[in-house]
Amino acid sequence: MDRWILDQFSALEADVQAAYEAYEFHAVYQRVAQFAAVELSALYHDLVKDRLYTEAANAPRRRSTQTALHRLAQGLCQILSPILVFTSDEAWEFIPARPTASVHEALWRRTRFQRPEPEVTLWRSLFDVREKVLSVLEHARQSKTIGKALDAKVQVKLPSELLRSLQPHQDTLMELLNCSQLEMSAGDEATATALVSKADGAKCERCWHWSVDVGRNAAHPLLCARCASAIA
Ligand SMILES: [Zn+2]
Repeated sequence: MDRWILDQFSALEADVQAAYEAYEFHAVYQRVAQFAAVELSALYHDLVKDRLYTEAANAPRRRSTQTALHRLAQGLCQILSPILVFTSDEAWEFIPARPTASVHEALWRRTRFQRPEPEVTLWRSLFDVREKVLSVLEHARQSKTIGKALDAKVQVKLPSELLRSLQPHQDTLMELLNCSQLEMSAGDEATATALVSKADGAKCERCWHWSVDVGRNAAHPLLCARCASAIA
C-alpha cells in the first residue's frame, strides 16, 4: 500500500512540475485536488488507518506507513507552497524533522519512486477484485446482513490462475477490503465472485475486527490475538 501511494505520488509530482513549468497553475490545483480526494482520502488513508491505530508502535508495517506519510506531507507542502504561500508554511511547521525552518527555503526533490511492472500488474488485479467485492459488500449492507465491512466474512472465488497470483497476498487483499475474515478459493467463473456473511467469532474491543480468537488470552479477555500481542 505504501509503495502504491508513493508511486502515485511520484506521478503527481511529475505532472505538477510540468504544469508549473508551463505556468498552468490551474492544472496544479486540479491534479492535487484529485489526488487528495481520491488516492489519499478515499483509498490510502482509509486503508492504512487500521495498521496505524492498532499495530504495535514499532511494527514494520506501521513504520513503513509513517515513513510514506512523512514523505507525502513534506512533498505536498512543497508542491503547494507557490500557491498556498502561508498555509503550506504553517503545515510545514508540524512536520517532524523538517529539513528547513520554512518550506520556502527547502529544495524540492521529486520522490521518483516507480514500482516494477509485475507489481503494478499485481495491484491492478487486487484493485479489480476489490471493486467486485465492494459491490457485494454494499448489497450485504443494504440487506442488513452486515453493518459495516469489518463485520463481514468474505469468501472470494477466483479463476485458478488469478488465485495462484493473489493467494500469497491474502493479507493485503483483506486490508484492501477492510473486512475481518477472507477466504479465497478457485471458482468456475471467468471472473471473481464473492459471498458475504457475518464474520465468525466475536468483535475485538480494540481493533473492532471480528475474530475467533477473541478471549483466548486470559490477560486480555476482550481482545483478539493480534491486539493482545500488539500491547504486550
Ligand atoms: Zn483486535
